[in-house]
Amino acid sequence: MWDFVAVISFLAFIIAIIGTVVTAIKRRAFWKKWLAAAGVALVLFIVGAVNAPPSDNIQPPQTQTVAEGQEESTDITSKSNNNPSEQSLSSEAAGNEKVAQQATSGQLKAHFLDVGQGDSILIQFPNGQTMLIDAGSSEVGGYVISYLKKQGINKINYLVATHPHADHIGGMAAVVQTLAVERVYMPRVSHTTKSFENLLETIKAKGLKINKAEAGVSIINQDGIKASFIAPCGSGYDGLNNYSAVVRIQYGSTALLLTGDAESVSEQEMIASGANLKADVLKVGHHGSKSSTTQAFLSSVSPKYAVISCGAGNSYGHPHQEILDRLKEAGVQTYRTDAQGTVIITSDGKTLTIKTLGSTNKTRAPDNNTKSSTDTKSNTTDTKSNTNTNSNNNKTVSSEPPAAEPPADSAYIGNKNTKKFHSPTCSTLPAEKNRVYFQSKDEAAAAGYVPCKRCDP
Ligand SMILES: [Zn+2]
Ligand SMILES: [Zn+2]
Repeated sequence: MWDFVAVISFLAFIIAIIGTVVTAIKRRAFWKKWLAAAGVALVLFIVGAVNAPPSDNIQPPQTQTVAEGQEESTDITSKSNNNPSEQSLSSEAAGNEKVAQQATSGQLKAHFLDVGQGDSILIQFPNGQTMLIDAGSSEVGGYVISYLKKQGINKINYLVATHPHADHIGGMAAVVQTLAVERVYMPRVSHTTKSFENLLETIKAKGLKINKAEAGVSIINQDGIKASFIAPCGSGYDGLNNYSAVVRIQYGSTALLLTGDAESVSEQEMIASGANLKADVLKVGHHGSKSSTTQAFLSSVSPKYAVISCGAGNSYGHPHQEILDRLKEAGVQTYRTDAQGTVIITSDGKTLTIKTLGSTNKTRAPDNNTKSSTDTKSNTTDTKSNTNTNSNNNKTVSSEPPAAEPPADSAYIGNKNTKKFHSPTCSTLPAEKNRVYFQSKDEAAAAGYVPCKRCDP
């Protein structure tokens, strides 16, 4: 309505100006009336233009148009395309929209990385934030970094070290060194291994402080995402595994429960705490060991899907058949990183889709060929740390035996059962009793052994 008033009064203003000029030239007495009419029309036009809805066609007149009435029409067309403040404003708004759209893809993605025997879980939140829970052993630190970079990730908003065992935090120092990290969470328990001390030093050197991971601590509660710690509920546990930080992530009506290496003691405490344990996806505790995933806990979580993160042919016998049977009986669809490679679960807040990348031996760099120098460094310190733990007789001894150390003089390690031979740094080395050592590939081949596909010796 106001734009109509503006147009009409603008036309009236033009006519009145022309009338004023014409009558003034002809020296008629009533030219002042024309001028008054022009003034009224101008006022009406300004009122109309100010109240009119913003549009490209109508622009408020500039003051100089009063003096230069004859140039008004050209003036107005040029101005309609020349409103820099409004133009930049709208392009800025469009830019913001684009950024927001990139961040809110509306999907939460959980990647259970194929790191051999160990855990590493990457969560990409719909708001663009990221969480990394564990980073595998020191041998796979480089692989974890390259996987994250391949997803375009240079910053980890939330870094969680579930517990100080090397198969969870071994690769983390390299990750902290290479990528930007915002917040670090760890349970309050220490371990006297070099790999753990190395991680603490790296965190300190980066100027990061460690936030305590314990039951009840909220990590995220925004944009429809909730993430919090469900465990550890207590302290004074015999082994490190029950100190595991357990994370529950809720997005829309879907939820994930990521339990680290939490064992039955912690599982019982989680049930007793009354916390909501229900989840569509359960990251099975302790690589599918029978130390975890008690029937009571499984019933409380009642997952549709389970993910077991373990190395093919690992010396612990993970996952234990008992647990696989229990999951099957409960109707849980189970995925294994040793058999299917990296498992990616995507949630749109309602439904889940699951993708596996396949157990390709080239998914990650061969262990004996790690490119990152920091990784090689932590690798050597880690080997030392194993000896350390053994001789220290530490109070917090793990129930999980440290990875066996290959004798220095042997170049390759064979598995008597599978007749495969590995490089000494392979993450899937056989148990001590099943090992046979070779000085060369030829020697291994002569004995009827074939190279491991994972480490490609
Ligand atoms: Zn573990
Ligand atoms: Zn552990």
